Amino acid sequence: MENFQSDNIDLRYRGFGGPLNVAYKEPKQDLSQLKLSGKEEAVPYVEDYNAKGQIGFSRHQRNIRCGKRESGATAYVRPSMTRHNFNLTLNAFVTKIIIDRSTKTAKGVEFMKSGKKYVALSKKEVIISGGAVNSPQLLMLSGIGLEDDLSKHNISLIQELPVGQYLKDHAGFKVYYRSNQTIPKESFRKLLEEFVQGRGMLTNLDNTLTYTYVNTKNKSSTVPNMEFALLARTPVPEPIPEITNYIPEVENYTQNINQQRDFTLAVHLLHPESVGRIKLKSSDPKDFPLIDVALFDDPQDLELMYNGTEIFKQFGETPFAKHYNLTMFDFTFCDEYERDSKAYWYCAIQKLAYSTYHMSSTVKMAPRKDPFAVVDNKLRVYGIKKLRVADCSIMPTTISGHNNAACFVIGERAADWIKSDYGISTME
Ligand SMILES: Cc1cc2nc3c(=O)[nH]c(=O)nc-3n(C[C@H](O)[C@H](O)[C@H](O)COP(=O)(O)OP(=O)(O)OC[C@H]3O[C@@H](n4cnc5c(N)ncnc54)[C@H](O)[C@@H]3O)c2cc1C
Repeated sequence: MENFQSDNIDLRYRGFGGPLNVAYKEPKQDLSQLKLSGKEEAVPYVEDYNAKGQIGFSRHQRNIRCGKRESGATAYVRPSMTRHNFNLTLNAFVTKIIIDRSTKTAKGVEFMKSGKKYVALSKKEVIISGGAVNSPQLLMLSGIGLEDDLSKHNISLIQELPVGQYLKDHAGFKVYYRSNQTIPKESFRKLLEEFVQGRGMLTNLDNTLTYTYVNTKNKSSTVPNMEFALLARTPVPEPIPEITNYIPEVENYTQNINQQRDFTLAVHLLHPESVGRIKLKSSDPKDFPLIDVALFDDPQDLELMYNGTEIFKQFGETPFAKHYNLTMFDFTFCDEYERDSKAYWYCAIQKLAYSTYHMSSTVKMAPRKDPFAVVDNKLRVYGIKKLRVADCSIMPTTISGHNNAACFVIGERAADWIKSDYGISTME
């Protein structure tokens, strides 16, 4: 699937020659100052966090090609446009899956384009890839979901399934460090000129320097439960970082951020216990569904986030932090608690927490007996014939990284199963 542009590829884990480009930010920055040598508990440097081991800190890998964002469109769709068996319609909005009630078989989809309603009928089967929010919405609009929920919107049930009832996401919050140096601002014109020449800051997608993976619950585990992203300063004043809880004190805190001077450490809880849900707001497909990511619904998650703050202490001791004389912003909005106490951190985490937009599992792949199962191990919707879902909604649960690459894997696997089910050679 991938084309990993690196001088150092472990071919047991990585690939090249595939459609999806994976590359490093160029020129590579020196990370040696982030090493904490001589400390047993120090987080180690890992050359490739997508190879044998993930625990440690690594240089950030990006889906970029020649300095531009790589996506499903650039990697797969555009190179396939001339295929005789590929047809694409843009700006089409699917409003319903057509399902024959008597045989419980998917027949096609209804969609809107330029204000007109169309129907597309399938010869073999229907595959829905609307993502973790829209796929469950579309299934529910089409009569697949919990009867109690659907009946509230006068949608008659075709198949009772727990669609949207198991929403998983990574929880996050960010801390900011003031440095002793301010980098100069650069004009957007200059950055854009560099970008069109395939160089400069805008070719780097974002300014993340490293990803660090640790397991704070079990130090000997090879599977991380937390991720820390270190973001460097940028020469461009960016908008105030988004936060989900709009409370005035926190706004004051984030308004202090100076992108040319401050470093950011984003903390992500990779496997929260909390389970959110997606429900229909109405039976109108254009209405956004109601999304509850249920941050910290399970109190264990807040405790795990708090435990992760031990990494800040290590970071503060690195030659990197010392070189820039980094000082973490105070959480002035939690001043009622003793500085650095557990209550102080709980307050800060809760007020700064956000969804990382890594929603998944709303159309969960699981054995039929799982109370949240919606699709089987070949992505077929239970109880409905000729209907598959292939996107991050089918993930059984959270993954220990960001979701995008895993969605390509889901697409590749779905393609293989479909070809094998219909006796199509993989070379076609
Ligand atoms: C702001 C943001 C930043 C992110 N950054 C990263 C990152 O840096 N790295 C990473 O790994 N992951 C990142 N993610 C997560 C990642 O983008 C998603 O997990 C991934 O794109 C999900 O892929 P998907 O195929 O399941 O769904 P999507 O990529 O959402 O694809 C679904 C597609 O279906 C279309 N669609 C939906 N409903 C309909 C309908 N009714 N009719 C027609 N078309 C429809 C949508 O327009 C969309 O094109 C980010 C997500 C967000 C929101």
